[in-house]
Amino acid sequence: MNAGPDETAGPDARTQELAAALAATRRRLVAAAESAGRAPEDIALLVVTKFHPAEDLARLLALGEREFGESREPEAGRKIARVRGEVDVPFAADMIGSVQRKKAGGIARWARRVHSVDSLALIDAFDGAAARALEAGHRDERLGVLLQVSLDGDPKRGGLVAADLEEAADHVLAAEDSLTLDGLMLIAPLGLAADDAMARIADIRAGFMERYPGAVELSAGMSGDMDEAIAHGSTCVRVGTAILGPRPILSP
Ligand SMILES: *Cc1c(COP(=O)(O)O)cnc(C)c1O
Repeated sequence: MNAGPDETAGPDARTQELAAALAATRRRLVAAAESAGRAPEDIALLVVTKFHPAEDLARLLALGEREFGESREPEAGRKIARVRGEVDVPFAADMIGSVQRKKAGGIARWARRVHSVDSLALIDAFDGAAARALEAGHRDERLGVLLQVSLDGDPKRGGLVAADLEEAADHVLAAEDSLTLDGLMLIAPLGLAADDAMARIADIRAGFMERYPGAVELSAGMSGDMDEAIAHGSTCVRVGTAILGPRPILSP
């Protein structure tokens, strides 16, 4: 893989471009944390490499990034397996996009966490898939689950409405041999100001954590709304475009 700094030529142009965008995003994260009176290290930056080539993931590893978000299986699993085979640096990759049940088996082999869990059927699928992956030695730790919350009930964006969260959370806890209940995830709905959306998820999360105190993660904030998300307690921002630029058009 031709990526990362080359000792003779120095970093390639793409690596330099990624380094600059990454530094700007990290400055933005620190500024948002500081203005919210939060410690920047309490907010993870998940670099969303979906639809970008394995070479970019390798470049970001060379730049020191260790946490990535991917969204389309089986392309994601193939890309991650390739980078893991070629670059000797451990890293975590999370599934952040909508998931079909039949893809759970593949995802459970590579993902640290799934951010986009929004049905009891999907929880069952990941329970079985993670149990098999643990048994086969494809993973060492249980699969982390974040429940995706829908603020407007729009089925196109996915997510559970607040009233259904408790049933889903109890379902994850009942699968404790293979799954962990890590927290909540939000993709802010269209048509709601970012600050209002993030205030609402913060409120839902506060109630959720009274009942599930171990579910500490709030995955919220993307390129366009990470500042508002951090102001309202996000522990993980998922940033793609601001770091990697526009996603290449996929060929079928
Ligand atoms: C693609 C994607 C992101 C990254 O969005 P950007 O606007 O490119 O930062 C974050 N979260 C989810 C769920 C995504 O699918």
